[in-house]
Amino acid sequence: MPALIVGNWKMNGLGEDIAEIAAMAGSGARGVWIAPPFTLIDRAVIVSAGAVKIGGQDCHANAKGAHTGCVSAAMLADLGAGFVIVGHSERRRDNGETDADVRAKAQAGQAAGLEVILCIGETRAQRDAGQTNAVLTSQLSGSLPDDAEALIIAYEPVWAIGTGLIPTLDDVAAAHAHIRQHLTAHFGPAGHGVRILYGGSVTPANAGELLGVADVGGVLVGGASLTAASLLAIAATAP
Ligand code: PEP
Repeated sequence: MPALIVGNWKMNGLGEDIAEIAAMAGSGARGVWIAPPFTLIDRAVIVSAGAVKIGGQDCHANAKGAHTGCVSAAMLADLGAGFVIVGHSERRRDNGETDADVRAKAQAGQAAGLEVILCIGETRAQRDAGQTNAVLTSQLSGSLPDDAEALIIAYEPVWAIGTGLIPTLDDVAAAHAHIRQHLTAHFGPAGHGVRILYGGSVTPANAGELLGVADVGGVLVGGASLTAASLLAIAATAP
């Protein structure tokens, strides 16, 4: 399957930045998805005209209700979003989200008809202590939704996000193999169909080698996704 290049704009982007998404959409590049802040989703859906899939960076686990400031998966779908990211390490860190919370959000996203990108990854201390596989197993056990359909896993070592550091290619391959093993044990044959992305300091300079690693089905990109030039340069490295 062709690689998926997903941009996570985090808390970046004003109206003028919609031009970047328009440029991505107009480029003819395929397999490019962007998660702008909630405030830009409707405009992004319009300018992307279906050429770039637009998604949310988070959703609430409930479809509606008394949750001031929150956005439900159904609301994202209503805007024309096609996917949602759940469990990003910045939300786990800043908002205390647990694996159970992430699982509930993943279920809500799928129920609303969205594709769900579920993020997992170890901290530097956990890697140094040799706990990477145990952490990934624990996060998957606690957060996988019931259904493997419309599910994507993003392996994002926390220490690689926004730092300019990336694991060795062997370490990326080992983590993806471990995740795949868990997915097939958990879902059976359907686990083979779940795409696994790598995320953490992906740039145009390193994307080609990362996308060449076994079972890396694409990349989740933060900082280098903010301009069309940078994200399209990453997309151009896809095999
Ligand atoms: C991310 O936010 O998911 C991410 C991978 O960020 P960056 O590419 O900036 O490390």
